[in-house]
Amino acid sequence: MWVVGSAAAALLLLFTAAGAYAQNEQQGYQKMKCVVIDAGHGGRDYGCISPDKKYNEKSIVLSVALKLGKMLKEEHPDIKIVYTRDKDVFIPLDERAAIANRNKADLFLSIHANSLASNLSRISGSETYTMGNQVSQGNFDIVKRENAVIAMEDDYTTKYEGFDPSSPESYIIFSLLQNAHSEQSIKFATYIQKEYAKGPVKLNRGVKQAGFVVLWRTTMPSVLTEIGFLSNEEDRKIITTEKGQREIARRLCDAFGKYRVDYEKALLTEEEEEKALGKEKEDKKENEIEAEKKVEKKATADEGKRADNQKSKVVYAVQIMATPKRLQSSASHFKGRKDVRFVQENGLYKYYVGGWDTKQQAQQNLPQIAKLFKGAFVIGVKEGKIVDRVY
Ligand SMILES: [Zn+2]
Repeated sequence: MWVVGSAAAALLLLFTAAGAYAQNEQQGYQKMKCVVIDAGHGGRDYGCISPDKKYNEKSIVLSVALKLGKMLKEEHPDIKIVYTRDKDVFIPLDERAAIANRNKADLFLSIHANSLASNLSRISGSETYTMGNQVSQGNFDIVKRENAVIAMEDDYTTKYEGFDPSSPESYIIFSLLQNAHSEQSIKFATYIQKEYAKGPVKLNRGVKQAGFVVLWRTTMPSVLTEIGFLSNEEDRKIITTEKGQREIARRLCDAFGKYRVDYEKALLTEEEEEKALGKEKEDKKENEIEAEKKVEKKATADEGKRADNQKSKVVYAVQIMATPKRLQSSASHFKGRKDVRFVQENGLYKYYVGGWDTKQQAQQNLPQIAKLFKGAFVIGVKEGKIVDRVY
């Protein structure tokens, strides 16, 4: 049965990606150097087409991609911008991801326009996807359409390990994926949707997860944005005009700027962070700062005690997220979990829950936890350090 074979192949791929990630972690977080802009479709693949056949997705998204690239080059001259295509050519999905991987890109942005059947022409709005398992039929129709292009590629059954874009069973492999970059991807996707809220496309359909082949093969944070519906009259009037395309590119450029600030914040050494924090607090009263310090110290001491108890023994737990700034234990991000602990690593607070003697026990508990925390994965913690990662 191909599902089994394919799942194994997917896991193999996953371990390769995880290896690259672990290596990156050891070297510490780096400055953002390269962004890949992927204009969907192209050449013999038109993408979706407007009901009057006047407009097609491949030219709309190329126009947005080029406008965005130009803005990024002007506003972030230190960053290398790579296009998977800058003209009307056909590029296979796996090659798009390969371009990003070869360039060691820090971020991958795939730009698409949406479309639904004529009886659903009232549906409008923008949405941004990260890699994951699709949840609703509506999403499945979209992901199926975007993935269907592989059928235009030579030799696609071998290349994609028998993946059939129209069969829901094929998508099982995506639920096995614990993408090492999902937290960063979701962060970027969230910034995009926040910017989109400023218009010109009116409805904001939010951040979603689905199994897009083009995202599957990338080894860096990656998102796929659907800028609006060609099948909807109101959206169409925006996304097919120069003005509308320029405004959408502006939103994407601003979202990138915000993501970059966040990403590079994680680069600050603790000393730099303290300095930055000091500046923020200049206006605060001395005693307020002292009180905060005491709380911090107590938290660190508590962590220390726990670490002592666990000395020289690896405890297996589930990492649920990482943030550059420390979150309160009562933060809503933790969805009511009371057993959240953290380790500090490479300028990030990495939060985990649970604690088991064996990797197997942690893995058994992972699916339940991952329902609430997408992208969660098993880690081994020893003396306050992460010593093992299982993706
Ligand atoms: Zn598309």
